[in-house]
Amino acid sequence: MEKASAALKNLFFPRRCPYCGQVMGFAPGCECAPRVEECRLFGPSALLDGEGRRFAFLDGGAACYAYAGPIRQGVRRLKFEGACGLAAVYGREMAALAAQLEPGGPFDGVMPVPSTKKERRRRGYDVPLLLARALSGALAIPLWDDILIKEFETRRQHELPLAERKANLLGAFGLRGTAAVQGRRVLLCDDVATSGATLDECAKMLRAGGAASVWAVVFAATPRPGARKAGKGERRHGTE
Ligand SMILES: [Zn+2]
Repeated sequence: MEKASAALKNLFFPRRCPYCGQVMGFAPGCECAPRVEECRLFGPSALLDGEGRRFAFLDGGAACYAYAGPIRQGVRRLKFEGACGLAAVYGREMAALAAQLEPGGPFDGVMPVPSTKKERRRRGYDVPLLLARALSGALAIPLWDDILIKEFETRRQHELPLAERKANLLGAFGLRGTAAVQGRRVLLCDDVATSGATLDECAKMLRAGGAASVWAVVFAATPRPGARKAGKGERRHGTE
């Protein structure tokens, strides 16, 4: 019975590749799975991650995948083509990875990297918030979506040279009350980390507000040109 209902469900709501969107099951399927590069760890505070990002305030974190190939395609579908249902799928993967981080105890709450009202209106939905919701559900921790806020619109980080990215974010984030984060272990989440400057700026605000530690989980991180490439399917654990 269970099998029959699963088959029916598959007929009407066929399982699709979470990256390219191709229907899976009967046809040979897509070539996405073997092409994804897994897990990149962000180093502890003031150290570098495998890609050369420097974090002054973030305690650590991880990305499920390198932002390339099928992962890049999937994120674009989520962000720019209205496939917002993917947030639940990606969020669950992020939760599995976040559960492996070691902040010295369970996270007290999860927080999306905030966007301004105008930015949300432009897209119609808020990707980091959708991811944070999935993380909150999967990890059974509170969703803190109204503490860290974005005060004003900034130029898009990925359109700026690396040297200008930190300055672009200066003062962009603010805290609405600090009581909720004081002494807490905060998990930040976002879809993609490029330079890591946005995550670090958010972590700076949260640390100033008294957070005990701030970690981040992102679905994908941009590989830096010339950085050591993690092998296909290679998972790195622990901090380096
Ligand atoms: Zn695919």
